[in-house]
Amino acid sequence: MNLNTDVLVIGSGIAGLFTALKVSEYADVILVTKKNKTESNTNYAQGGIASVIDKNDTFEKHIEDTLIAGAGLCGKSAVELLVHEGPDRINDLIEIGTNFTRKEGKLDLAREGGHSMHRIVHAKDFTGREIERALIEHVLSSKRIQVIENALAIDLITEHNIKNLKDEPLNNRNCWGAYILDIFKKSVFTITSKATVLATGGLGQVYLHTTNPYIATGDGFAMAYRAGARIGNMEFIQFHPTSLYSEETSLTTPSFLISEAVRGFGGILKNKAGECFMEKYDSRKELAPRDIVARAIDSELKRTGDEFVLLDVTHKSKEEIIDHFPSIYEKCLSVDIDISKQPIPVVPAAHYACGGIVVDEFARTSLKGLYACGEVSMTGVHGANRLASNSLLEAVVYGYRAALDIDKLIKVTQTTRVDVPEWDDSGTLSHDEKVLITHSIKEIKQIMWDYVGIVRSDLRLERAASRLHNIFLENEQLYKRTKVFEDILELRNITTCAHMIIKSAQMRKESRGLHFTLDYPNLLEVAENTILQNTNP
Ligand SMILES: Cc1cc2nc3c(=O)[nH]c(=O)nc-3n(C[C@H](O)[C@H](O)[C@H](O)COP(=O)(O)OP(=O)(O)OC[C@H]3O[C@@H](n4cnc5c(N)ncnc54)[C@H](O)[C@@H]3O)c2cc1C
Repeated sequence: MNLNTDVLVIGSGIAGLFTALKVSEYADVILVTKKNKTESNTNYAQGGIASVIDKNDTFEKHIEDTLIAGAGLCGKSAVELLVHEGPDRINDLIEIGTNFTRKEGKLDLAREGGHSMHRIVHAKDFTGREIERALIEHVLSSKRIQVIENALAIDLITEHNIKNLKDEPLNNRNCWGAYILDIFKKSVFTITSKATVLATGGLGQVYLHTTNPYIATGDGFAMAYRAGARIGNMEFIQFHPTSLYSEETSLTTPSFLISEAVRGFGGILKNKAGECFMEKYDSRKELAPRDIVARAIDSELKRTGDEFVLLDVTHKSKEEIIDHFPSIYEKCLSVDIDISKQPIPVVPAAHYACGGIVVDEFARTSLKGLYACGEVSMTGVHGANRLASNSLLEAVVYGYRAALDIDKLIKVTQTTRVDVPEWDDSGTLSHDEKVLITHSIKEIKQIMWDYVGIVRSDLRLERAASRLHNIFLENEQLYKRTKVFEDILELRNITTCAHMIIKSAQMRKESRGLHFTLDYPNLLEVAENTILQNTNP
């Protein structure tokens, strides 16, 4: 089965669904997603979506808060677009039936760390799930959108797939769709399109501990890199300081978030020996900003060799704990921890990728016909550190802008490419050694956690790079002689993302925002993006 459409959208989180919906107003869309349509980072987003709604708030304040968080590396015009167009996109979400929480008829606006005003629009503490519900309802009722689940995009189709075009210079390359794996049938088909939108979300699964679900294996970053698109600022990984530690780090279940509100409530961080340690790192102790607390925990873990630290609220009354944190209480109880009597074992966890596929103000990548929206993209909005709740907003603002540009593009693109070769897996064998793949994924996650985590150094990065190279060589051989299936593709993508994070971290000879290295603890005067491009796709 090979398919052809106006616009191919890859991913069914907020970015993919929103863009598909907007494009469907004027064109046909095929949306592929590798699991079922709701499995996405979006579905896990709790806090909300930031926008200037309150009459006392101003665009200038939201812009300033975003620029401060980004530590000198945000693209100012990208931030301005985000903030100015935010309210209209929130209205779009309301118009399609997203039920945001209201107080006396008005949107209830919360305030989060780094925001100088109340501007977080939310649906209780399940904002992402509610947005996803509303978007999916509309996407499924659209006659112009075909949704294909359990369809994993393997690689983008560009000149490098077509024999006599292989030498086309990188700055003149196009994207004509993608090769897709039908996960159940274990067969590969082609979708050709006039425009392709990568909306594949994040890459948290590159790390041992992550709040991201298992879909977040960085497929879009890796596909775009293999195809020769420009990728930027991959070293800026945001770690959440406190996620519930579990002895069995599952490859498929994300770490459960222990909200920052627990520290605000009086929770005390201690090491396993019972010593309070935050004072050593920052006078604000447990109330220091997210990245400082994450760094302090990491340093304590490195010093003691322990796997977790403890977050203690046992000095508070049980009634108060349950009243404030019913779901955290229940979740911990389900793993035999009564948090009113025992401290919670916590570790930081990889949470958000601030870098990604470099795009312009219309979400256009460096390949013609290829767009990127949501967490996989680098619009310039986040710089070296993301301001809380700006990511859902970025996905809708830039998804909308992509749709505006695609409208123009497909009017001048008469037909889709017809001479795309079929996926060639001749000479490859079926594979039944899943253990090799699981083991490699575990190894990479551990390497990235230990050497390319919250605190880095030249030595740790070098070690990570050489370990990863060996794993890469072994798995490329396996990939070349094996019929493709889900796990081997995800391993390949995790490996590529790990490579890009290490490489970018090695390029940055300073500590800025989320990138902290012992060898260059200071800021350079001039802030520059780190850009990677595969020159031999
Ligand atoms: C626990 C948690 C809480 C968060 N809270 C907030 C918050 O309060 N506010 C905020 O702004 N942000 C929050 N974030 C971040 C935010 O949720 C994400 O950045 C955002 O949802 C990303 O949306 P997306 O559409 O880009 O990607 P996703 O929602 O991750 O969707 C990606 C889609 O692509 C599909 N996909 C991936 N690879 C392939 C492939 N190869 N082929 C086919 N399909 C593929 C996936 O299956 C999925 O459908 C949170 C994140 C987490 C993990």
